[in-house]
Amino acid sequence: MKTLTVYVKDQPYPIYIGEGLLEQLPALLREYQIETDRKLMIVTDSNLAPLYGEKLKNRLVRAGYATGFAIMEAGEKSKNLHVFEQLVGECLRFGLDRQSIILALGGGVVGDMAGFLAASYMRGIPFIQLPTTLLAHDSSVGGKVAVNHPLGKNYIGAFHQPLMVVFDVRCLKTLPLRQWRSGMAEVIKHGFIWDESFAKWLDDHRNELFAVDSEAAVEAIYRGCEIKAAVVAQDERETGIRAILNYGHTIGHALEAVSRYQVYTHGEAVSIGMAGAARLSAKVLGTGLDVVHYTEQLLEAFELPVASTRSWSVPAMLDAMKRDKKVKQDKYVFVLAKALGEVKIVSDIPETEIRDVLGELVP
Ligand code: NAD
Ligand code: MG
Repeated sequence: MKTLTVYVKDQPYPIYIGEGLLEQLPALLREYQIETDRKLMIVTDSNLAPLYGEKLKNRLVRAGYATGFAIMEAGEKSKNLHVFEQLVGECLRFGLDRQSIILALGGGVVGDMAGFLAASYMRGIPFIQLPTTLLAHDSSVGGKVAVNHPLGKNYIGAFHQPLMVVFDVRCLKTLPLRQWRSGMAEVIKHGFIWDESFAKWLDDHRNELFAVDSEAAVEAIYRGCEIKAAVVAQDERETGIRAILNYGHTIGHALEAVSRYQVYTHGEAVSIGMAGAARLSAKVLGTGLDVVHYTEQLLEAFELPVASTRSWSVPAMLDAMKRDKKVKQDKYVFVLAKALGEVKIVSDIPETEIRDVLGELVP
């Protein structure tokens, strides 16, 4: 097991990463002085309930914890206020109070939903993240929690840091391959924005990672979380540097929007977005073409797309970028690469440059 700490203002919290950690959860809770007089509520989705949820519930009950169990339908479409209200009902009926703890067992959808539930139930109760997807190494750290509104993703949310994150890499063995690759895009992103040697390490350990070898998975998640935690510790509320975590996301979000979230996984869209951001960096900052080539080569080695095979309207993508929460006063703001492992936030990028790059990315 590897451990690291996220240094946020109110209460620093640990991330545990290892094999079989869900089995050790009762022991971890006790170690953290969470006694059996506190009620627990597992929130999970319909895929994870039979795989891991029921076993976890039984284990916690055997350890003496009164444990409720709420299941949401798997998938992004459940991340809405309607499902949120149903979950509040389950918490009320189970008698959760302010001392109770919500356990978010799942990927980013469950983590965001259960986290937002914890942030607002009785004006906020503690929660623990139990991530089960590779992507969730990203979403479970940093305290951003949210649900979607019909007009856009993550428009209703809060900052609410978990009590701890417990990542059992054994869960990853059942993760569908496409989800695995998609999560890898965010792992690679952490290398691109912060640590060239991590990007190279991923390149060197591709086979182990594809085989979901536990040791390699623990290391990749550990280093990804370490980078995310370092950025979050400097800027918990995203008033500055935290925005670098959006590398590849400006174009990525635009692609997700124009395709109505039906074509790409988030990671696939971000992968194309990072290839685009690298190209834009070469145009705007004069970044070396070796960075562009290495970006594409590494993403492709992980079977991730670096351009779209489907055609989308460039003006529609530009419109989507303007609606993005991160656009300020109609100015295009991009995170661009100065070098491998080093990025900067650049505002006021000429639309023509973006148009050119989008033209290269979509046929
Ligand atoms: P997800 O939670 O929908 O999981 C993907 C699919 O895999 C689901 O069908 C799920 O049931 C299934 N699954 C999960 N774990 C599994 C396992 N171990 N074995 C088998 N199947 C499993 O998607 P995701 O990619 O983890 O998360 C995407 C969400 O994360 C988006 O809503 C996004 O907005 C959010 N997100 C949030 C943050 C943040 O900082 N809060 C950051 C990035 C992404
Ligand atoms: Mg992302």
